Amino acid sequence: MSRGLHTEEEKAKIRASKQATAFRHSSMDVKVYELKLVDRRLNKQQKEQLDLLFLEGKWFYNHILSEKKKREIPLNCVNPTSFKDVVKKDKDGHEVSYKLQVLPSHFKQTIHMRMISNEKTIRALVKKGLQKHGSLKFKSELSCIPLKGMDWKFKNARKVWLMGVKGQMLVRGVEQIPTDVEFANANLIKRADGYFLKVTTYQKRKEQENNGKEIGLDLGIKTSITTSKGEKIDISIEESDRLKKLQKELSRRVKGSNNRWKTVKKLRKAYQKQTNKKQDKANKIVHRLKAYSRIYMQDENIAGWHNGMFWKKVQHSCLGTVKSKLMALPQTVVLDKFIPTTKLCPKCHSIKNNLSLADRTYVCSCGYQEDRDVHAAKNMISIAKSCFEDGFVPTEHREITLTEFKAAVADEILSSKLGRRSEKITP
Ligand SMILES: [Zn+2]
Repeated sequence: MSRGLHTEEEKAKIRASKQATAFRHSSMDVKVYELKLVDRRLNKQQKEQLDLLFLEGKWFYNHILSEKKKREIPLNCVNPTSFKDVVKKDKDGHEVSYKLQVLPSHFKQTIHMRMISNEKTIRALVKKGLQKHGSLKFKSELSCIPLKGMDWKFKNARKVWLMGVKGQMLVRGVEQIPTDVEFANANLIKRADGYFLKVTTYQKRKEQENNGKEIGLDLGIKTSITTSKGEKIDISIEESDRLKKLQKELSRRVKGSNNRWKTVKKLRKAYQKQTNKKQDKANKIVHRLKAYSRIYMQDENIAGWHNGMFWKKVQHSCLGTVKSKLMALPQTVVLDKFIPTTKLCPKCHSIKNNLSLADRTYVCSCGYQEDRDVHAAKNMISIAKSCFEDGFVPTEHREITLTEFKAAVADEILSSKLGRRSEKITP
């Protein structure tokens, strides 16, 4: 942020080195690791400092936002480090001035920069029509402080130093990070289940070890994921007894009471655990499926199921997470949701329109019979293959549209139907 302090030559040098870094990173894999600050090993002072960092961070964020609104200036015209004091509300809602104690000026900069980039994102979303309102909102809680290279450091394999917190802190999870990575940015995260350091790394791209096989996946609601090999992968997540108990407890608490707040806190923690379980299960499933060189799946509207009659089943599964993780894999081919993978008979190519959700077995008049979901999963592979010559779907082709399906398969359906009719005419 030292605008104007560099000579033209220096500026060119900085630009060149930035470009070189970006170029190097473009051929590397980005991986994010989550390290947990071990709660019970923090001393009292460290706990207080961490809590205060987020509290002051929130006050600072809200202060900048109100300055921007009051003075009607864009965010990038606010100098974040000029604020030593912020105006915040006390318990009774009165505005009081508060002198920032622990928030380092560097964090003021990173929070400010994050605000600017968030504002940009919102504006872009509004422009695309994906979001209606376009402005930053005041926060009741700050959950993330962006960190730059100098703001934190590994002291050894298990300990980390962080700007604004005295001493070193024990972290869990460092062993997942290979030794030869390049660290990019990091975020300090506050969640119901503790403090975390989310570290972004660049590492050498690994050649994917694929098994050379292909698999089709039917993402169902009832039996979860069915593969073309006939396997049913269970993706349900049991709601813990503790969660149920706490939900009941909450309904009994008086609104605004201290006890209610305590239950809310416990409930948040229990929900976080549930989310962690979902993530863990999803990771394991995706890891196993990743072994296939080619994964075919259909783009079904899972978010829509949330509102429909199956919402309870969807809520208690990791289907959404698995789906988005699979779609991010380079070997995944997605079929348009209107392609009739369930209705089409692979043998005689007729379309069965009277198939209801209750029919668990697909039975065709031509004699073909198969478990409904396995049938759909198998169909995905054959449909995808018939859309391309020699059954080879090019790597960069990540989705198969309805038009492509119609061009390749509908002709076949038409001709086979005509063929059947002529058989009847000439017995
Ligand atoms: Zn048939």
